[in-house]
Amino acid sequence: MNNNTLEQFKEYLHKMRQYDHVLTLLYWDLSTLAPEKGVEARMNAINYFSTESFRLSTADEYGEMLKELSKPEQFDALDETMQLTVKRYLRDYERFKRIPEEFYSSYTEVKTRSERAWEKAKRAADFSQFAPHLEKVISMTKEYVHYMEPDEEAYEVLLDLYEEGMDSKTIDRVFDELKEGLLPLLKKIEESGRPDLSALEGTYDMEAQKKVQDMLLSYIGFDKDAGATAESEHPFTTDLCIGDVRVTNHYSEKDPISAMFSAIHEGGHAIFGQNIDPAYEDTALEQVNMMGLHESQSRFFENILGRRRSFWVPIYDKLGELLPQFRKVPLDTFCRAINDVHPSLIRTEADEVTYCLHIILRYEMEKAIFRDNTPVDELPQLWNDKMEELLGIRPENDGEGILQDMHWSDGSFGYFPSYLLGSMYDGMFLEALEKEKGSVDTILEEGRISEITSWLNEKIHRYGSRYTSAEVLQRVCGKELSAQPLLDYFNQKYAKLYGFQK
Ligand code: ZN
Repeated sequence: MNNNTLEQFKEYLHKMRQYDHVLTLLYWDLSTLAPEKGVEARMNAINYFSTESFRLSTADEYGEMLKELSKPEQFDALDETMQLTVKRYLRDYERFKRIPEEFYSSYTEVKTRSERAWEKAKRAADFSQFAPHLEKVISMTKEYVHYMEPDEEAYEVLLDLYEEGMDSKTIDRVFDELKEGLLPLLKKIEESGRPDLSALEGTYDMEAQKKVQDMLLSYIGFDKDAGATAESEHPFTTDLCIGDVRVTNHYSEKDPISAMFSAIHEGGHAIFGQNIDPAYEDTALEQVNMMGLHESQSRFFENILGRRRSFWVPIYDKLGELLPQFRKVPLDTFCRAINDVHPSLIRTEADEVTYCLHIILRYEMEKAIFRDNTPVDELPQLWNDKMEELLGIRPENDGEGILQDMHWSDGSFGYFPSYLLGSMYDGMFLEALEKEKGSVDTILEEGRISEITSWLNEKIHRYGSRYTSAEVLQRVCGKELSAQPLLDYFNQKYAKLYGFQK
């Protein structure tokens, strides 16, 4: 009986994975190559496979297998990978089973309509067009998580959905710590003035930029035999399976730097996916839904490594070969350009320091929405006030204010903190890495970046989602989450770069 249920369960997981595989491929195609006239058919196919996939993951037959395997005598006989898989999937199954089907489909529909309304409202910089949709999405999101976890507070459930084990008490502690350290640093940086970046102005060949992306991906350790690249409106990474992890990029003629850093960022996500232990295939450990941990890997490559002078030393000549304009730009000028810290209104264009404050703002807004029940029509004003308090600037319209991100339009509340959690994990990983392997600058300058990638593969990537982020921090750094290592990294780096006292 035991073996039988386990075999059936494994077969069932394999079947579910085939639906996921097809769905992922359909989404990838929709965002990259699908022609305008094919979009509707593609959407229909996506709807068909999503419905089938939802049915499989809520089927009674599946629930019975999970419950059977959770019985102590069966559970104890499973290996650790299967134990974790059964535990996690049973939790997900029970959460989903509590959601009435009718509610689920109307929630999905409301979110789709809200996303479209948001796009229009953003273009028109008119919050009033979006407000009724946002109100509906907020109230339905509260209901949605209440079905999932009736005894928990809504915002706590949302935080846990995107970063398992995370809670607002921990986030309050580390975000406050960070805010306190960042505001004086930002003041010192601002007093040092902006660099002159006119040497970088110009028009950059798009085909050559794609070659730069290829060069950067190979440099950081992206395996071309286990991945692919394409173009899309917004860069993203998609994991079909461990042997096929793909990244996209978006190129602009006037700004080659943005695509370079998108390549490094998405490459970091992909390297994580490509290096998960193949033994986890078809189990819950293959899927890393901890967004903070995932972001820590993309942002480690993008910021901690990519924005260092030493990262570029071995490849700066190559960059000049591919994009000849860079031959005229000294490496030091380039370094100032990729570390140009200044308050700005748009999160996705922000430097690594002020970016933190953009996230703290969104976290405080989400608490106002879910805890204080702040009325929707008061949110734009609250946003602008917080922007002024944290960054000293005020949006002139809602398009460059509260309407700039799509996350809230599709109900992804609780997602934003994971970006900053990722950066804080990075401060800690950097500290642990240097303690073990010595100066990162020396390693990079000597062209030994692969040693850093291997260290990350070994310490983090291979385990997929076996450990929660808090467990990963304990295993790799031997301590719990703290903002201090990130602050130390910022303070040292910018004191040197801008020439002021720490
Ligand atoms: Zn990312």
